[in-house]
Amino acid sequence: MKQLKRGSGVAEICCRNISQYLMVLVLPLVVVGGYYWPKIGFTVVGLITLFMVIASSWGRFYCGWLCPMGAFHERVLSLVSRKHKIPAFFKTPWFRWGLFVVMMTFMSFRLLSAWGSADAFGSVFRTMWIVSVSLAIVLGLYFKPRTWCSICPMGTLQGVSSSNTYLLSVDESCIECKKCEKVCPISTYPGAFRVAGGVGQVPSGECLRCSNCIVNCPKKALSFRDRIGDD
Ligand code: SF4
Ligand code: SF4
Repeated sequence: MKQLKRGSGVAEICCRNISQYLMVLVLPLVVVGGYYWPKIGFTVVGLITLFMVIASSWGRFYCGWLCPMGAFHERVLSLVSRKHKIPAFFKTPWFRWGLFVVMMTFMSFRLLSAWGSADAFGSVFRTMWIVSVSLAIVLGLYFKPRTWCSICPMGTLQGVSSSNTYLLSVDESCIECKKCEKVCPISTYPGAFRVAGGVGQVPSGECLRCSNCIVNCPKKALSFRDRIGDD
């Protein structure tokens, strides 16, 4: 596995940074470009289709490698973020699904009121991105830059779409040093899923498939695989 070192001293799998630097350009394209040409908001529909296809085999791989907003948080917002640990309650099902219901209800009403106009439809998706990025910036300035990604409704959706595939596994050699948690963009702690005498697995929705923890684990205790015992 090729690796490179970032200024922070965190090793990374090769080429994820290049993917993110390219995808981050989509964000101003939609947010700024959509002001002049609202139909560009349909780019978001294309990306939703793309991540649902990817999620069926690779879980939240889209979040870790391709999401324009995630790329912005990780590569740009991180330059000014205070990077405090993400509060644990953000990851509780009631909080994540509560936010999902609120945001999807809001978007559904907006789409109904935009019915019949392609421009108005496109604007709804652009507005959702503006709302999401604004919330993400507020959170990411104090907490880790990708804090939003731990509660993002689209991430929650991908998590349940891919509960069995390409899961992060932790084997017995884990010494619970917590280095994986430190380098995880959403403060997931894979060591917590260690199973004595076996292999533990991190729930799909808790992992962006970025590989930061795999590359930085001192015991090489982590890897991706399908659910154990399914094959
Ligand atoms: S970095 Fe590796 S050894 Fe340390 S807690 Fe995480 S999985 Fe375990
Ligand atoms: S658990 Fe590991 S692979 Fe998953 S998001 Fe965190 S650092 Fe990336």
